[in-house]
Amino acid sequence: MPLTIITTIKEMQDLSDTLRKQGKTIACVPTMGYLHAGHASLIKEAVKSHDIVITTIFVNPLQFGPKEDFERYPRDTERDKNIIEASGGSILFYPSIDEMYPPDYQTTISVTNISKSFEGAFRPGHFEGVATVVAKLFGATKPHTAFFGQKDYQQTLIIKQMVHDLNLGICISIVPTLRESSGLAMSSRNVYLSDDEKKQALVLHSALSEGHSLIEHGERKRAKIEQVMHDILATCPEFTIQYASVAEADTLATPDIFLENKDLVLLIAGFLGKTRLIDNMLYLSKS
Ligand code: AMP
Repeated sequence: MPLTIITTIKEMQDLSDTLRKQGKTIACVPTMGYLHAGHASLIKEAVKSHDIVITTIFVNPLQFGPKEDFERYPRDTERDKNIIEASGGSILFYPSIDEMYPPDYQTTISVTNISKSFEGAFRPGHFEGVATVVAKLFGATKPHTAFFGQKDYQQTLIIKQMVHDLNLGICISIVPTLRESSGLAMSSRNVYLSDDEKKQALVLHSALSEGHSLIEHGERKRAKIEQVMHDILATCPEFTIQYASVAEADTLATPDIFLENKDLVLLIAGFLGKTRLIDNMLYLSKS
């Protein structure tokens, strides 16, 4: 089936209402476009369990800081359409900035506690922008389920919290991070990296893997795990660390010593040259 492209909220809502009345299950995959195999894996996963998959493309100005890359964020909608179709997506919701934020727009959503640390500390306002746009995209597409990538780990917790707090009644499904064979997490921003930088960026995955292996061997002292991650990142002087840390996976709490039976998440962010990179790895406790 050819891809249906919708640009207005009203048309999107009407179509979703019609599909729901027909008894169809709807999934939403929010993206900022410049799609890669990681995005495609979200769409493919959604297609497995839903009749209709709506991919949204919207580069959301609200979630970029004043010095961030909103203007130069890569865009290629024609290529994106092919990737969506090839992945089995049937609808693209592609609104303009004015459609999403008309001049009288006034509301923002803030998921307070879990937004404070890590990304929230280094990107003030980012998660308010994310929560707000995702709530609007949910209101426009009316999905039963929405799919997000583990790549943006803290974002997944914030969206789940928002859906819970606001009783949105949408199931949130998290898809593992898709990586290049080298281990580099796929990201639209990887296009900014030179070939040398792509090699240097592998240090993030190495640091996460070493931290993970330390935990697997029984280490639960946060400082020890973080030291190993920092030591490995230091072997790549081109990478400027913002944070390299480990936290409880469900709350992002950072006690000095973790309990044995807690699921943990290792998190790294920083700059390689002018490009900001983030990555994470989950440790799931066996108990
Ligand atoms: P973005 O377009 O970067 O806002 O990402 C849209 C969605 O795709 C988010 O839920 C991301 O977490 C997810 N995503 C981005 N990169 C990957 C990846 N390498 N593997 C899986 N999901 C990803």
